[in-house]
Amino acid sequence: MAIKVVAWRCPQNHRCPAVRACPAEALKQEGRAAPVVDEDLCVDCGACVEVCPMGALQYAETVAVVR
Ligand code: SF4
Repeated sequence: MAIKVVAWRCPQNHRCPAVRACPAEALKQEGRAAPVVDEDLCVDCGACVEVCPMGALQYAETVAVVR
């Protein structure tokens, strides 16, 4: 699986809590923009999907369904 950022779901006005929750340091955030996933580091643990209350981090397979 892969993690995708659904940027329109992110209000982009805060420090992303998922960045701190990621055990692989795979999430990067520039300022208060939506985070981006470094797919080379991501281990698909799903921690970020659980942490984001806005549903801005999703498994790629579900993005089309959840939109
Ligand atoms: S799935 Fe896990 S390793 Fe990948 S970005 Fe989310 S928290 Fe980090």
